[in-house]
Amino acid sequence: MSRKDRKAAEKFDKGSNLISQGKFDDALKNLDKSIKKGNCSPDVYILKAMLELRPVYPGHLQAAKEVFDKYPGIDVEYGNFTVNSSKLSLECELLDIALACLVAADKDKTVENGQALIQIANRYAEIGDDNLILENLFKNTTVSGRNYSLTLFARGYETLSEAVKWDDPKKAAEYMQQALFYNQDRENAEDVAKNKEFIDGVSKTVHCWFCGKEVVGRNVHFVPMYSKITEPILSQTDLEATIPTNDAQYVYACRACYSAIDFNGYKHFKKACEYTDGKISELKAYTDARCNDLQGQVNNLVDAVNSINRRLR
Ligand SMILES: [Zn+2]
Repeated sequence: MSRKDRKAAEKFDKGSNLISQGKFDDALKNLDKSIKKGNCSPDVYILKAMLELRPVYPGHLQAAKEVFDKYPGIDVEYGNFTVNSSKLSLECELLDIALACLVAADKDKTVENGQALIQIANRYAEIGDDNLILENLFKNTTVSGRNYSLTLFARGYETLSEAVKWDDPKKAAEYMQQALFYNQDRENAEDVAKNKEFIDGVSKTVHCWFCGKEVVGRNVHFVPMYSKITEPILSQTDLEATIPTNDAQYVYACRACYSAIDFNGYKHFKKACEYTDGKISELKAYTDARCNDLQGQVNNLVDAVNSINRRLR
């Protein structure tokens, strides 16, 4: 072994030890030095890619995946863990897709976005009970592929439910029921409660306060609207059918009545905005003119004082 090779090996060993000690920046410097001294083993590049991924995780997953793909099937010691380049590559690929799917579904509740989430959930489910290495190393959380898939399945079915609720409330309730099962598996009580509320609401039937039409689907085809219901009116009201029974401050309106009222309100709001904007412009023009006027007078006064000063000298 040449002197240079020995130096390269020393730097690599030092880098590996520093990872065990949690000194990741120093570890990376030593691995870079090892590469400069001629080390071109897969281990050094895999560890370097991991150290570069750590501070930005879960960003730049593609860049890390490209390195892992160059050296498939290699086991490397990362601190106290033995990690495999092919498994790392798969996690980078899946997480990159999953995050994109979650962002898309958050923005647009469409059938396509719901299906994409379910598809990526299936791929996570294939990992089974093995823990996700990157989540473990970089986020200090122990989560198996199967557990991660439950969250994605739940989000997927919630998205499908939201996507179809306008045309098919019954189908929406079925999808939300699926989401509820996955959230129960995740033992996430908050999400389960939200799913339950949606299912209860979407199958609820009321009569619109305004037009009397019978409508199914709370927060979809009918909505509560703030209202003042006086005692005599309340005494003549069919509580079950037209208002949320626990709150006499609201009446139920079908989506058609609600949107008509809302649109009318918006028109008046827009008119009011135009009026105030116009008034503000007028006021600004007036104050600008006054300011210019006053500035002119101040300038004249300054000239006059200067002229008196000159004559007194
Ligand atoms: Zn109505």
